[in-house]
Amino acid sequence: MQIAFLSYWSCPRTPLGILSSGGMNVYILNLASELAKLGHRIDIFTREHSRQKNNIVNIGRYVRLIHLKATGDDNYQKSLEFGRNLIGFIKNNSLKYDIFHSHYYYSALSGIEVVKHVKAPLAVTFHTLGEMKKIYAGTIDKPRIEAERGIVGDADALIASTELEKDELIRYYQANPEKIHVVIPGVDHRLFRPKSMTLSRRKLNLPQNKKIILFVGRIDPVKGISLLIEAVGGMQVEVLLIGGDIKSRSFWQHPEVKRIKDNIESKKLEGRIKFLGSKAHRLLPWFYSAADLVVLPSVYESFGLVILEAMACAAPIIASRSGGLKYLIEDGKTGVFFESGNSADLAEKLKKLLLSEKQLVQMGTRAYWESQKYCWDKQAVKMVEVYRKLSG
Ligand code: UDP
Repeated sequence: MQIAFLSYWSCPRTPLGILSSGGMNVYILNLASELAKLGHRIDIFTREHSRQKNNIVNIGRYVRLIHLKATGDDNYQKSLEFGRNLIGFIKNNSLKYDIFHSHYYYSALSGIEVVKHVKAPLAVTFHTLGEMKKIYAGTIDKPRIEAERGIVGDADALIASTELEKDELIRYYQANPEKIHVVIPGVDHRLFRPKSMTLSRRKLNLPQNKKIILFVGRIDPVKGISLLIEAVGGMQVEVLLIGGDIKSRSFWQHPEVKRIKDNIESKKLEGRIKFLGSKAHRLLPWFYSAADLVVLPSVYESFGLVILEAMACAAPIIASRSGGLKYLIEDGKTGVFFESGNSADLAEKLKKLLLSEKQLVQMGTRAYWESQKYCWDKQAVKMVEVYRKLSG
């Protein structure tokens, strides 16, 4: 099949953990690469940006990354123009696609524009939903929710990452259940696998004799990092925060970063909580393996790739009981949940867990085996089935 991915919001090759670059980019690249292994051809369309070297880049056998212009006053206008430019690109190059698959709601707006003029079905993965951000993070974005409602009606298929996301689409957006297909993301097990803790700490220049807690992700209010700072107040631990462009001035001016920093300073934790900045995937297995515990304190997670990666590295995890994490973690067995938003509960469970070496090792081992269920190769086959059903 000839497949077009639309990634208006962020170039999938942007370093991860910076601004909006996170799980969606990993999803797009992993899915594209698995589809290519099955013999399909994938063009990923994204916006032009300052770091790109060429407009069209071959990023793997059968996978191209194509940058298109998108000008306009706001993202809504730009996403429509992006769609129109995509139509132009298709016509100028006499291309034909069997399916358009949009990622995030702006790409879905572009996609709706495209399929008005180019005959092919449109599948949409939202990755996050405005209604859920409103409920769990208090972020109210009415135009976004309105746009998502329109997309739910117009798209030919909605791809949900979990049964929970399917239920949310039905409950909050009145989506037609028949349109929704659940395709669960996977993890690259060749990269994410367990390593020795001693070796990992030596390689990363981390102390061997300290308890290390690790957070990996975008530095965004939804990730609940302040809860973690609250929780570790009186504990003898080092906290490593991976994510964010720490070399840029704008990072340190970001309201969420300021909030976290103020919190750290007011608790006099400067020496023990470190912003390490964004790290590439190839380094993350070492970090997961070096940590005594990986913590994800999010107020909401639609899926939680970081947890899956940590599990694949046999790292013990503690996460908030939120969103799609309930599918990944079996409480007390493959990880531990704390009550979402409750830093006292997090503190209590952290203390207990750090004292129980045996439980940590057992949890990590079980998590490793559980993670083996989540593979992109099987999910790519499932996605192709959806595409075929749509394209007839
Ligand atoms: N990530 C990374 N380097 C960083 C921060 C994040 O590679 O510095 C990756 C992380 O490994 C994971 C993705 O970004 O693959 C985040 O996905 P997740 O589903 O956990 O969060 P989202 O960004 O979707 O909220």
